[in-house]
Amino acid sequence: MTLLVVEGLTKRFGGVAAAKDVSFTLQAGEMLAIIGPNGAGKSTTFNMVGGQLRPDSGTIALDGASIAGLPARAIWKAGVGRTFQVAQTFVSMTVAENVQMALLSHHGRSRGLFRDARALYRDEALALLAGVGMRADAERPVSELAYGDVKRVELAVALASRPKLLLMDEPTAGMAPRERSSLMALTAGVARARSIGVLYTEHDMEAVFAHADRVLVLVRGEIIAAGTPEEIRANPRVKQVYLGE
Ligand code: ADP
Ligand code: MG
Repeated sequence: MTLLVVEGLTKRFGGVAAAKDVSFTLQAGEMLAIIGPNGAGKSTTFNMVGGQLRPDSGTIALDGASIAGLPARAIWKAGVGRTFQVAQTFVSMTVAENVQMALLSHHGRSRGLFRDARALYRDEALALLAGVGMRADAERPVSELAYGDVKRVELAVALASRPKLLLMDEPTAGMAPRERSSLMALTAGVARARSIGVLYTEHDMEAVFAHADRVLVLVRGEIIAAGTPEEIRANPRVKQVYLGE
């Protein structure tokens, strides 16, 4: 099932076309990686899909409904979740409380309630934590966790809003290679099990080739290649322009 259809997305900053006529589709349960050099327009593309930036032109449809240019919160409510490069957790709260807070937002209740109702959505939070391998750390403050584990908690927080599409801009930045691979394997497993489409960026080629179903190559705001990891690896233009071969 096609979850996301992006057509002709364009964004200029002054004279620079950060994204130029970007078009792609993403299926439910699919891991789609965007790769490209620094400044290629990856974050710009993410931010247009997530509503942090308004496109100059182009269309974005999620499950057939137009979301292009809507405020970020409306896009989140329509089913687009996000993780951020800088972890967005509340470090003084416990792991479980962070997920409970996210569930509170998702169920449309005020975060102010939380002070008096620490048991709210607790079972649901623990189930989400079990799904990312963090159930045993539920009562620890996030400040005590290793960085890779904070990223797992962030994933559980993002899943709390039951997204159809998850946007992950450089999810493994700052992580050691083994942690990277384990976070991406976890994400791919969750995406497939829950039929969530994942759009992500990643610097490490091996991680991309290991975990992506399909790859888009963005150079100077334009998609120069799209295909399976095998097709991308063998694409002469990609080798020349991006991999420097
Ligand atoms: P990537 O994420 O692939 O590294 P970006 O999407 O961040 O690339 O940037 C694409 C281009 O747009 C770059 O030339 C960058 O300098 C420019 N750019 C991005 N955001 C802004 C902004 N808010 N204002 C001006 N220029 C920007
Ligand atoms: Mg970026």
